[in-house]
Amino acid sequence: MSIGNSIKVAVVGAGPSGFYAAQALAAAHTDIEIDLIDRLPTPYGLIRSGVAPDHPNTKAIQGTFEQVASDSRVCFFGNVTVGRDIRLDELRGMYDAVVLASGAPLDLRLGIPGEDMDGVYGAAEFVGWYNGHPDYADLAPPLDKSGAVVIGNGNVAIDIARILSKPLDELGPTDIADHAIERLAGSAIREIHIVGRRGPADSKFTNVELRELGEMANAVAIANGDDLPDAAPEGLAPRERRMKEKNLQCFHAFAEADPLSKPRRIRFSFFARPDRILGKGRVTAVRFEGTQLDEKGHLVGRGEYFEIPCGLVVTAIGYSAEPIDGLTPEDMARLSGDPSGRIERGFYLVGWLKRGPSGKIATNRADGDELAKRLLAEISPAGRPGRAGLRQRLDSNGTQWVDFDQWKLIEAEEFRTARAGAPRRKITKVADMLALCRPR
Ligand code: NAP
Repeated sequence: MSIGNSIKVAVVGAGPSGFYAAQALAAAHTDIEIDLIDRLPTPYGLIRSGVAPDHPNTKAIQGTFEQVASDSRVCFFGNVTVGRDIRLDELRGMYDAVVLASGAPLDLRLGIPGEDMDGVYGAAEFVGWYNGHPDYADLAPPLDKSGAVVIGNGNVAIDIARILSKPLDELGPTDIADHAIERLAGSAIREIHIVGRRGPADSKFTNVELRELGEMANAVAIANGDDLPDAAPEGLAPRERRMKEKNLQCFHAFAEADPLSKPRRIRFSFFARPDRILGKGRVTAVRFEGTQLDEKGHLVGRGEYFEIPCGLVVTAIGYSAEPIDGLTPEDMARLSGDPSGRIERGFYLVGWLKRGPSGKIATNRADGDELAKRLLAEISPAGRPGRAGLRQRLDSNGTQWVDFDQWKLIEAEEFRTARAGAPRRKITKVADMLALCRPR
């Protein structure tokens, strides 16, 4: 439905932040037309390609997003890359407001020698691989050695360690990609090392995720009691202190666990920063330097080194945003100037692109509400072409854009071909997805 005198908003990125923004805008204003643009033919961003396959409850929000997309004022434009199929300045000319919601899809790099060796991946790549993201479907990470190292002490590191340790009968009934199941079936990995550069009390794990590692069927979580303080540091806010205490309780339980009680081990090492990836073309070990905190709380090296042998390294050390049509994340930060995500009237950032890669999926809800309030306070309809203009532009340059009904055809095929007990079988090639889209 095109509404002549409505406010026209384009949201670039159909992941959680884009959908929450669309939901908040649609709830706050009747006369509005919201177009969600994504470079993939599939909606939902990290819900589909980031959330761990064995955490289906976290994906339940997809049902709400589906309702948002089914609102006649909202339209999904999948398989459209801003900068390739339409320029950012064109989009800004067509719409009363443009909201950038493209997240932080790139891996931060360690910046140490050996990082480009075979067998070394960033979490965006590795998680994207097992979740069937088309960009990483051909990754084929080697799982042929007993040791694997996951660098970083956040929840993404835990997700990766869990997927590397779970038995196939637990992964089979999930939406993990077929190619990942097949490769994991032949995995020789037995020792998964999660390594943090600071101590257990400084780790970013949330307690539910950490506890889950202590309850796995065929992997035992191990910590070294010598690394563990008895209590959280003084001077913390009560809530933070409680959270840290709970994590420390988990680590103390891990220190008591029998390493041989299960076939695989997830070993936590603290106070170790990666110094160099070792190997000849392919990783064979990671060299770490022991660390400590100086009197000002800064992390410093102790000049003592040790190696962990491994055939796979995954860095889970955070993500960065990528440029949109030449507009770099640095430009965005400079132009927005303040944490609100407003670049100028009619041009906004939201979600991880605005505040960096932190928080839960639902954290984006508040971002969406804040954006809607701000945007609607300063934008009124200016008779711009909006959706009609975008369709015309894409059709004239031959872009095979995917609408929500077409996405539902892709999804129907995923449901139809699902492995026994699994919710869907992810289609991982864009060409295969497009082949399923009947002409409009
Ligand atoms: P994160 O929580 O920010 O953790 C990043 C980790 O990488 C930190 O331990 C950090 O250490 C470490 N690190 C950064 N640079 C490093 C370097 N050069 N060398 C060694 N270590 C380095 O990030 P994340 O795990 O990517 O998670 C992103 C967000 O998604 C978080 O908010 C997370 O909670 C959320 N998430 C949630 C779930 C869930 O709820 N189940 C699942 C996945 C992700 P320092 O602390 O020393 O900087």
